Amino acid sequence: MENPRRKFLKKSLLLAGSLYMAPKVLGVKKGKISSKLGFKTAKLKLTYRPYTLDLKHVFTVASNSRTTTPVMLTEIEYDGLVGYGEASMPPYLGESHETVGKFLSKVDLSNFTNPFELENILQYIDNIDINNTAAKASIDIALHDLVGKLLGKPWFRIWGYDPLKTPNTSFTIGIDTPEVVKQKTIEAAPYKILKVKLGKGNDKEMIESVRAITDKPLFVDINQGWKDKQYALDMAHWLKEKGVLFVEQPMPRELIDDIAWLTAHSPLPIIADEAVQGLADLVKMRGAYTGVNIKLMKCTGMREAHKMLEFAKAYGMKVMIGCMTETSCAVSAAAHLSPVADFADLDGPLLINNDVFNGMKIVEGKVTLSEQPGIGITKKE
Ligand code: MG
Repeated sequence: MENPRRKFLKKSLLLAGSLYMAPKVLGVKKGKISSKLGFKTAKLKLTYRPYTLDLKHVFTVASNSRTTTPVMLTEIEYDGLVGYGEASMPPYLGESHETVGKFLSKVDLSNFTNPFELENILQYIDNIDINNTAAKASIDIALHDLVGKLLGKPWFRIWGYDPLKTPNTSFTIGIDTPEVVKQKTIEAAPYKILKVKLGKGNDKEMIESVRAITDKPLFVDINQGWKDKQYALDMAHWLKEKGVLFVEQPMPRELIDDIAWLTAHSPLPIIADEAVQGLADLVKMRGAYTGVNIKLMKCTGMREAHKMLEFAKAYGMKVMIGCMTETSCAVSAAAHLSPVADFADLDGPLLINNDVFNGMKIVEGKVTLSEQPGIGITKKE
């Protein structure tokens, strides 16, 4: 029998040999590996510029109307590669060009020489200040884009998700008169699911207007617009008969007990949006809702969104991947999570006239990912 010590030494030598062979086996020069994997002393450099999205239609939800959305476009440069990011700031969420600019001016990435230290870098970003979730997302997305480019892989591949499993996206119909709602429903012909905004007192009229045109499945989003739980339950029954698949944020997020009661009695899933920003909220709220709408701008970006998605799935919750009005940058980033989501609401770039990127495509209503590395976007000429 072989001496155990000899056996150990033999194994160690074999292991050392295989490690030494690795660059040759990979067919890559040593210097190139260190460069591509970020072990050199290049520095991360952040730049950003404000931009304003021009919406195709006046967009009305239960709380407000608007025709533009401010965004901040970020870039993180490293070793000749650029990662793109974006913060979208619908005004009712409290961030603006001014607040995001102020936050980003405090970011100093010069201490980091390895972009693969995502946890450390994003922890540093998170510690700069509370809230500012869209500003934080603009760094997170740019960093993920950069890391994916350094690895030469798209994020759905890095996460091991199957791109064939992406869901159909919904297309959003804002609150309006029956004539306009019917017209928007006709224009939404390419999409297989519609998301109808409710909560301004004309709920049944909105649904009947859509149903006058199409029998497609519907999501409804109340944006906290219903104040009474019995009304909410009666509506959930009525909406189920009208072919609605779920109800999003039916009541104000503070009314946790009423919402938990509604979820327990409702024939439709009740999905949290405004009530859940990041993972900590999801942990607290998981008993009160059937599912959650995860958005990069609420939760600080792809890293937190990925953690939330895995948590929600582990607890048997439904997951929707959503967006704000955004360019193809932030929406493409979110799309990499969609293969494991139950629902997608990734219509942001479809609602604007002045997208600055080419990215994730909607093909016959379905979220369609490309094999381009990072978040899979290119700048429009
Ligand atoms: Mg919503």
